[in-house]
Amino acid sequence: MPSRSVSFPRICPACLAPGASEPVLATSDTNRFKGFYFQSLTFNSVPYCTVCAARFKRVLKWVHFGAYVVLALGIAVAVWKRSIWDGLFVVVIPCVPLGWIAQSNTSVSISEFDDKSIVFRFRHAEYAVEFRKVNGLS
Ligand SMILES: [Zn+2]
Repeated sequence: MPSRSVSFPRICPACLAPGASEPVLATSDTNRFKGFYFQSLTFNSVPYCTVCAARFKRVLKWVHFGAYVVLALGIAVAVWKRSIWDGLFVVVIPCVPLGWIAQSNTSVSISEFDDKSIVFRFRHAEYAVEFRKVNGLS
């Protein structure tokens, strides 16, 4: 898929309802190491239906909130135990379920990308078919 010129079908990628209009972020779950910085890709405009968009945003908010709580807890433990490693340990463990929650609620994600192309991953095969249609990929 050539980058920068992607259009998304007007159906919800989560429940396949027609008339999707709420733009939701789609981010790449793999960060690409480029030079001295990590490059990750974000699309601002994947249309979801109102219900799924609200649900998705709520889940993301809780995941972010959880991540902050975990981070604060990690710092507290590191200070209390006077050990960075104990703090890190507390932070790393809950990141696995948090990441999993975010992942399992994502219907569109970017699995690979480079300067010329993007590989999208969709939860539903029907959505992938529609996506190919609106982008002229047959
Ligand atoms: Zn939906």
